[in-house]
Amino acid sequence: MPPVECVTNPDPRALLAQAAAGFLAGRPDCLLVLRQGILRDDLRARARAAGVRGWVNAALCTFAELPRFLGRTPRVALGDVERRALLAELLRRHATRVLHRPGRDGAVLRAVDQLVGELCAEEVGADRFRAALEAEGERDGFDRDRDADLADTYAAYLAALGDAWRDGRDTLADCARALRADPAALAERLGGHRSVHVLGLQDLRGGWGGLLHELARHPALDAVRVFSAVRLAEGGAVSLVPPSPALAAISAPDTTRELETVAARVRALLDDGVPPHRIAVVAREARPAVDRAADALERFGVPVTVRRRVALREVPVVRAVTALLRGAGDGWTRHALAELAEQPYLACGLDAAVVNHVGYRARTTGLAAWEAALGRLEREARAAAAAAGRGDDDGRAARRFPAPDTIAAARRGFRAFAREVAVLDTPRPLEAWLEWMARLLTDDPWAIRARTLALPGGDVRIARLDLRAWDELAQVVAAWRDALARWGDDGRPLDAAAFAARLDELLEGDVILWSDHEGAVLVVEALGAAYHEVDHLFLVGMEAGRFPRRAPASPLLDDRARQRLIAAGLPLDSRETWERRERQLLDVLLAGASQVTLSWSRKDEGGREAIRSVYVEELALGRQLPAAAIEEVPASRVLVPGRRLVADDAAAAQAAHGARIELLRRTTAPSPWNGAIADPALVAHLARRFGEDYRWSPTQLESYAKCPWAFFSQRVLRLEELAEPDDDLDPRARGTILHEALRRFFERLPRPAWLTAELLEDAGDALEASLDAAIAAQGDAWPGHPALAAARRTELLRVLQRFLVHEADFNAKHDNPRSPRRHAIRLGVVRHEVPLDDVTLERDGVRFRYRGTVDRVEECIDGRAGGRRFVGAADYKTSRSSTPARGASKGWDDGVVLQVPLYAHALHVTTGHEVARVAYRSLRDGETVHELQLWTIDRATGEPVPNPEARARLAAALDRAAAHVARVRRAEFPADPPASCGCPPFCHAREICRVAGGPRIEKGR
Ligand code: SF4
Repeated sequence: MPPVECVTNPDPRALLAQAAAGFLAGRPDCLLVLRQGILRDDLRARARAAGVRGWVNAALCTFAELPRFLGRTPRVALGDVERRALLAELLRRHATRVLHRPGRDGAVLRAVDQLVGELCAEEVGADRFRAALEAEGERDGFDRDRDADLADTYAAYLAALGDAWRDGRDTLADCARALRADPAALAERLGGHRSVHVLGLQDLRGGWGGLLHELARHPALDAVRVFSAVRLAEGGAVSLVPPSPALAAISAPDTTRELETVAARVRALLDDGVPPHRIAVVAREARPAVDRAADALERFGVPVTVRRRVALREVPVVRAVTALLRGAGDGWTRHALAELAEQPYLACGLDAAVVNHVGYRARTTGLAAWEAALGRLEREARAAAAAAGRGDDDGRAARRFPAPDTIAAARRGFRAFAREVAVLDTPRPLEAWLEWMARLLTDDPWAIRARTLALPGGDVRIARLDLRAWDELAQVVAAWRDALARWGDDGRPLDAAAFAARLDELLEGDVILWSDHEGAVLVVEALGAAYHEVDHLFLVGMEAGRFPRRAPASPLLDDRARQRLIAAGLPLDSRETWERRERQLLDVLLAGASQVTLSWSRKDEGGREAIRSVYVEELALGRQLPAAAIEEVPASRVLVPGRRLVADDAAAAQAAHGARIELLRRTTAPSPWNGAIADPALVAHLARRFGEDYRWSPTQLESYAKCPWAFFSQRVLRLEELAEPDDDLDPRARGTILHEALRRFFERLPRPAWLTAELLEDAGDALEASLDAAIAAQGDAWPGHPALAAARRTELLRVLQRFLVHEADFNAKHDNPRSPRRHAIRLGVVRHEVPLDDVTLERDGVRFRYRGTVDRVEECIDGRAGGRRFVGAADYKTSRSSTPARGASKGWDDGVVLQVPLYAHALHVTTGHEVARVAYRSLRDGETVHELQLWTIDRATGEPVPNPEARARLAAALDRAAAHVARVRRAEFPADPPASCGCPPFCHAREICRVAGGPRIEKGR
């Protein structure tokens, strides 16, 4: 019986030479088992270099291919989907104490699956597992219930497998069983060889211990040798001192520049004649680093051999299918239908614009409600179009709807769609859901598969990915149906949301795409590069938390629980084992290359500060990585040298043209690239449209003043930011109720109303009655969710009370000798919602008309006025922040405070009286904002006198209003919000705005 001989060498190149000595001499003399396929490529390259042309029927395989030589038992290995489907079902049946929680099973299933894999690989029986769980140790009630769930689920799993099936991750154990069952078969398969060489084993996990034991006592073998860079020991492995490659490093400001700097170096090596296959770029984890590194290399014209991984559930074509189930699960909300309408793979006849139109008017769910809402919309749109045809209005009502024929087409599309998907609204057993999925994938009613070939942007990679994922989805469904037929389920009906959740549990795998280039620069995750030899290794992403990778946290077993199971004799990994393996992985990677460049980014993807890996620190401290060998890429270096910016002269000229435009845009002056309409026909149209017949509203002019581009996109292009209707009171309805309640309240007071604290004290009932009447005026039902009605009414009442208390205080100040208000003219409230139909203003040769509605008009009640008629006005705003420039007086200088001065002008023109005061009033706290006191009481004479400062401000504001009108008529709409305003976060035009430097933060936010 041969002992297992361990040949350890920290240098993987030497190990390959030792393990494959016979192969390299052209006389294979053993079964050579290599860690992974890439080592087979290394071996072939070496053999070629040694003049060996190849081997016929050589006993050569990778770890994954071992059963080809060692044999397998008749037990059939479960695939990933079958296994997870079975485990999910068993969890539902047997883990009912704490682990099975409907809707939260995904993470638990993943963790149980991983634990079961570890146990099955080591052939741990159900009783041994249960005994370990129940072994001595600290456990609370939750721990005991969890352990019982785990023990029962594992026992049920092994019972379900029986003698016919096996887990699939127990391949090495199965090989060992096969060797025991048929010892003679091995000799035959090895074709006379009597030794086995295993290269690249890092530890004895996963059944290696048992298999090596079986090989060691096999009569057909004289020698079993393991070639490893670590010393394999009971319970783990010990690192040897690694060889010291020449080390260098790159510290980059962010990941993009890190990978581009690496790509530039790789490119330079290729230009110096280094063969591409002698270079590798390695990241600890495949996602997302491998893809990004490969992309960066391709930008530098470097051919790469890369294995790209994309999570199956994230592949676009799979998302298209799951979107259908999510849509049904959500109850066909606007969001779900709009997503389906815009799915390029479905082309299901839905019209996103019409769906959004319906969904933003009122919250709509359910296929029947959508059908009814679309019918209503079409009728209303046709009625509005007919009214416009009769000339009943200027077509304004019709413009609020999509074209009636568009709605009709959308209805037809929706009906066809609803016919197909109505089936999803009926709960059904899992088997019936799978039948539906299988039919969808074969019949493909929306021709999804064919659409995957319409290469988005000509990117053949996406089409390959989609096609592969489509096939894998079909395999998932087939395997799931097999599992269901074999092991059954509880047969309970599931709705679409429950089925979507179960499907998601089984879409765990990755779709893997290999690049087309062979012999190119290898880009791979660290585990795939272990023992691979290259001249130049670039180890990217060397930040703390990435490499060493943190041991994955399990929602099942914390460190303490795991440690307890290890102490009870279960062959599970501890945190220390994990950390040791990470270290060994680094060592073996470093040892495989002559020159290693480590790189890291000083910021993570979220822009947060990142620090370099502890391994880099150790190498720096140990002087293997001297400070002089670290290139610090400064944050100021925007372009990595060597990155190709343009393809040809035409592209360079275009880039220069673009740069000139950007410089011009920085001046914020109107230009064809900053809101100046250039087409003469359009300019003429705009001049006509906003000409002297156009009736402006002060709000429109303020909107232009705050940002001409925002005005253009909203008023001319009719873009608007639509909010999802929810069940609460919407802000517009809220404002209307408050305005109406105040109107009704003041109408109950003797006019002109001058509110005092005493008056207010007795007016509680009047205020409540005014509020209730204002709410009733909104319609039969509360304009929000009925459950919130009482709470919202209380809140509105509080707002009104606070406002009126402030109003009484404000009035009281007129009697306070120490208050500057003492010299203000007293104005009592006479009317609310006063229309200003048509007022004309002419300044500096610009004439324009405007109209509006003044929230509240006041009249003089001041005895000191000597009988002169003064008037005033107030415009209610929700709060100070809703006023121009958020209430800052700088807003006057910037020409954005316009409503107050225009009302002052209009009141003077329409009443013929002097205007004493106009202002915004904040409903939140009654504050007076942007007040213009155009007349005051003179301190010396006690008589009314004009206020020159306020009048100058008024005149300047009216000038600015006219200037804005002139600019609109010249078709100038630059993106240029004044400093006092900035860009509000809710600006509807952000997506189409290219204001130089990006949207400007609004002052005060
Ligand atoms: S984001 Fe700013 S600059 Fe752009 S349109 Fe909106 S307010 Fe104007």
